[in-house]
Amino acid sequence: MALLVQKFGGTAVGDPDRIRAVADHVARGVRSGDGVVVVVSAMGRETDDLLRLADGVSSARPGREMDMLITAGERKAMALLCMAIHEAGVPADSFTGSQAGFLTDTNHMNARILEVRPDRIRAALDEGRVPVVGGSQGVSTDNDVTFLGRGGSDTTAVALAHAIGADACELYTDVTGVFTADPRIVPAARRLSRISFDELLEMTATGCPKPSMRSVEYARAHRVRLHVRSAFTWQEGTWVEEEVPDMEQAIVSAVTHDLSEAKMTIAGVPDRPGVAARVFRALADLEVSVDMIVQNTSDHGVTDISFTVPHDELDRCLALVGELVAELGAAGVSSDTGIARVSVIGAGMRTNPGVAASMFETLSDLGINIQMISTSAIRVSCMVDADRVEEAVQALHGAFGLAEV
Ligand code: ASP
Ligand code: MG
Repeated sequence: MALLVQKFGGTAVGDPDRIRAVADHVARGVRSGDGVVVVVSAMGRETDDLLRLADGVSSARPGREMDMLITAGERKAMALLCMAIHEAGVPADSFTGSQAGFLTDTNHMNARILEVRPDRIRAALDEGRVPVVGGSQGVSTDNDVTFLGRGGSDTTAVALAHAIGADACELYTDVTGVFTADPRIVPAARRLSRISFDELLEMTATGCPKPSMRSVEYARAHRVRLHVRSAFTWQEGTWVEEEVPDMEQAIVSAVTHDLSEAKMTIAGVPDRPGVAARVFRALADLEVSVDMIVQNTSDHGVTDISFTVPHDELDRCLALVGELVAELGAAGVSSDTGIARVSVIGAGMRTNPGVAASMFETLSDLGINIQMISTSAIRVSCMVDADRVEEAVQALHGAFGLAEV
């Protein structure tokens, strides 16, 4: 007997057949004696459809109305799933984010959770009813409906698991777990049976699309055990938990890649104190996440600064830095959108030197030029030509022996 939060992604509840399959699974868990709380995403690609509808009528996309609109997707899914769970013979009640006690800030389209007060969820459980909660939503301190952002249902599930003290949070998707690399690129990629919070956080920060990075951060901060698994095969997936201290850690656990960044270079920048501060403060004020900052050694008192920004922020960043160029006395600013990041991640890297060297050798053997490098204690990332990133992922997956158990 366990207390579980089970989150179902959009494809898992994509049509009535899928909803019935999920309802049967939930009902089986309840019959076997588990306490089950369900969190559900909008059906299929419904969130995208709602965003497109909004684009058709509004260029301003006012936040309050956008959140009212988007959260309707999860509302529909939760009501349908509840009906199907009833049909499977188990009583169930749907709850909006607000009804489930998710209090958020007022930042529409990307609200942050301030507090979870799961009183009604606990009461439903005590009465033997399955609470089914709409994912990615809450109510703001101004009493308006809020949306937690894309992929926010994972965060709803983790936050709820923490708030009710669940034994685990199961994230059901259309893949069977977390893989050593994207299986579409590396057919030999393997499902990991377990991975640490730190490693998965690095993976989601460098291109692994699921679960959402924010949910992994939340789980890591509050030590919520995650189980990433499939709602299609129902097999055991990947457990995400704390590192076991005396266990030997794999030196490299996974290779990730990310095509979502672009490179910017400010050329001919005077090499004096305050320049980097000026540039990156201005970018931070735009709320842009900058990464992989490289400053060349100065030559005759001038240097180049390169860094990466998300593709969809590039135009705003170019405009801003373009204005700063004159003020800084720099030569100019340029950008490159044809880049990709490839990363190797593994907790065992902390105590095993040579991972970066092996990575660079593997790329060098393929004649792939490394444009930028960044590292953390458990990750090495290289920026390479986007056209060659798949080759790089395949070669690194082989070089670090990730296909073998
Ligand atoms: N349905 C929302 C989205 O597609 C929230 C979620 O699924 O996590 O982003
Ligand atoms: Mg979704």
